[in-house]
Amino acid sequence: MDAAFGGFAACSDETKHLLEGWEQADSITVDCHKWLNVPYESAVFFVKDQYRLLQVETFQNSNAPYLGDPLENFSYLNFLPENSRRLKALPAWFSIMAYGKQGYQEIVENNIRWAKQLGHFIDSSSDFKLLAPVRLNTVCFTLKNEADQDKVNEFLEKLNSTGKVFMTPTFYNQHKGIRAAFVNWRTNENDISMVFDLMKEISKTLN
Ligand SMILES: *Cc1c(COP(=O)(O)O)cnc(C)c1O
Repeated sequence: MDAAFGGFAACSDETKHLLEGWEQADSITVDCHKWLNVPYESAVFFVKDQYRLLQVETFQNSNAPYLGDPLENFSYLNFLPENSRRLKALPAWFSIMAYGKQGYQEIVENNIRWAKQLGHFIDSSSDFKLLAPVRLNTVCFTLKNEADQDKVNEFLEKLNSTGKVFMTPTFYNQHKGIRAAFVNWRTNENDISMVFDLMKEISKTLN
C-alpha cells in the first residue's frame, strides 16, 4: 500500500478513518521526507512477517557473494532494494523525538486546515474551481472558465516564477489542473491569503 503521504492521516483523530483497513495490506510504505519534514530521501516500510523470505529473495544481490548469505545471516541490508543502509533513520528519529505524537498531530491538522481554507477560497471564487474535494493536504484545482484550459500552464508558470509559492501540474477528470500540496510545518493562515491574492492577480494577466 502506497501511504507515502496518506499514512500520516493516522496522526489525527479527524482523518485516521481514511486509513480504515490498511492493516490488511501485505506491506505499507510511508515517506518520511513528506509529512515528517525530514530531508529527501527517507522512508519506512512495514512488511508482514510472513513475507520476510520473499523480501530477502527479491532484493538479494546474486552477483555479490561477498555480501554473505542473506538467508543465513539476516540483515536489514538485504531487506530493501538498496542493499545498502546509511543512517537515514537519524533525522527521522530526531524529528520524532523532538516533536512527538502531539507535534505531528498539530503539523498534520494545520496543513489540512490550510489546505481546506485554500479549497474554500477556490470554491467561492469566480476565477478558479476545485477538481476534487479537499480531504487531506492536497488542493487540486483549475481555472474556472472551461475556455481557459489552454492557459493553465501559463498560469502555473507565472505563479511559480514569483518565487513565493510552488505548485505542480496534473491532469484530472479530463482537465488540466494544478496541485497545491501542503507539507511545511510553518505554513500559516497569512500564507494562504497571500497566495490566493497572488493567484487572483495572475489570473487577470493571462493571454
Ligand atoms: C511522493 C509520493 C510518491 C513518490 O515517492 P518518492 O519517494 O518521493 O519518490 C509515491 N506515491 C505517493 C502517493 C506520493 O505522495
